[in-house]
Amino acid sequence: MSIDYNKYEAVIGLEVHAQMLNKSKAFCSDAVEYGASPNTLVSPISLGHPGTLPVHNKEAVKNAVKLGVACNCDIAQFNHYARKNYFYADLPKGYQISQHNTPICENGHIDIKLKDGSEKRVNLIRIHMEEDTGKSMHDQDVFDTLIDYNRAGTALVEMVSHPEMHTGEEAYQFLTEVRKLVRYLGICDGNMEEGSMRCDANVSVRLHGAKEFGVKVEVKNMNSIRNVQRAIDYEIKRQIEAIEEGEKIFQETRTFEATKGITIIMRTKEGASDYRYFPEPDLPPLHITQHFIDEVKHLMPQLPKALFAKFTNEYGLSEYDAGVLTESREVAEYFEAILQHTNNTKAAANWVMVQVKGYLNENAIDINDFVLKPEQIAEIILLIDEGKISNSVATQKVFGELINQPEKTALQIAESLNLIQESNSDELQHWIDSAIAKFPEKVIEYKGGKVSLVGLFMGEVMKLSKGKADPKVASQMVKDTLDKVS
Ligand code: ADP
Ligand code: MG
Repeated sequence: MSIDYNKYEAVIGLEVHAQMLNKSKAFCSDAVEYGASPNTLVSPISLGHPGTLPVHNKEAVKNAVKLGVACNCDIAQFNHYARKNYFYADLPKGYQISQHNTPICENGHIDIKLKDGSEKRVNLIRIHMEEDTGKSMHDQDVFDTLIDYNRAGTALVEMVSHPEMHTGEEAYQFLTEVRKLVRYLGICDGNMEEGSMRCDANVSVRLHGAKEFGVKVEVKNMNSIRNVQRAIDYEIKRQIEAIEEGEKIFQETRTFEATKGITIIMRTKEGASDYRYFPEPDLPPLHITQHFIDEVKHLMPQLPKALFAKFTNEYGLSEYDAGVLTESREVAEYFEAILQHTNNTKAAANWVMVQVKGYLNENAIDINDFVLKPEQIAEIILLIDEGKISNSVATQKVFGELINQPEKTALQIAESLNLIQESNSDELQHWIDSAIAKFPEKVIEYKGGKVSLVGLFMGEVMKLSKGKADPKVASQMVKDTLDKVS
């Protein structure tokens, strides 16, 4: 059977959980630490022992507000918590404290860019605060599932998008933007492999032009943004094929199997009534004042979108360059720090994108641990602009040697390696005369009108000078000298 997949439109809504980078958990002082020995960060509060009481964590609330402000959400003044009751072994209390009817943020949006250059706004339904569960490990023991409760009670925010995306690529770009944002804000490390950022994808399909949504399926357990895209693409195809076969789509939760690239059924979906939500009696409602929101706004770094606009409009960089330089806050800040010391924006952009990032990638070094200070890069740029060193000497020799001896200045390195370009005319004239003397027959050809031979003589001059001849000055002198030869 041949299927016309284009008859259908996919509808996608994402739920993104982001684990907050707080020192302590959402409702008690247990430390938050990835990779600690299992079950060492668990107080009776995390475990929900009778008689214990949760308390609010101001820093966690601050982080949720930061994200809300960054996404242009409305921030709720009165926040209540609810208990969402369910029984999984990784939820030691038997319920999760969550914001059911009063999410801290509503509305807002994430703007995404697609490969074809088009832009799209994805609107948000809400961002709410809740606590994480423990972690079940099914592959550590032959007979039993093991559980680590260290993560139980860690502060999370959950961002829920409207069902407004239509392709796996849109979901991919949405998550890329969200991850960039939480990293800029410093509220989550955005690491999907370690599970500190997780995404559930809700996927349905309908005929193009249909008013009603199709039945949605929720897909879980994707450990990278790429896998979210793969899971969605698979799921869209599966649903269309099922419908074409005359099957019905059921509301269910499926899990993504990365090795096979398929989704398989996990469970049929619980309805909200199964959770028996009721107001959390042990936590007082939280009042967020305008003053608190204003304070948070003061703490906000420059966000990637604003930086992108600044880099393109103010600095005149191409969209591509601005995109690369704003991928991470650290890189953007490093670039801007170079600009404190040079006006050559284009050179600064190139140095960060090519030399610095290339070096960091090759050596798996984080930019925070990079030994060269931004002013040292600015100094190299200045040496090139002043004609003291050539661009190739700078990239091939000075940069690497400066990394080995970061306590030195670029000028000291260039001098110690004898790399300063020669624009002294006596020295240059000497090399030029030798070069011309070496190819008397080429001189005749040049005189006969083959002016492109200047390049040959220049090559020889560069060879004789070991790259130290200032090419601009030298090439003029080569021409002048040739013209004088009879
Ligand atoms: P639930 O109560 O099942 O969690 P919600 O209405 O709260 O459902 O929506 C959860 C997520 O599912 C949201 O991201 C929303 O955009 C998405 N969603 C809702 N309906 C559909 C649909 N028919 N197809 C795809 N996604 C949907
Ligand atoms: Mg859901």
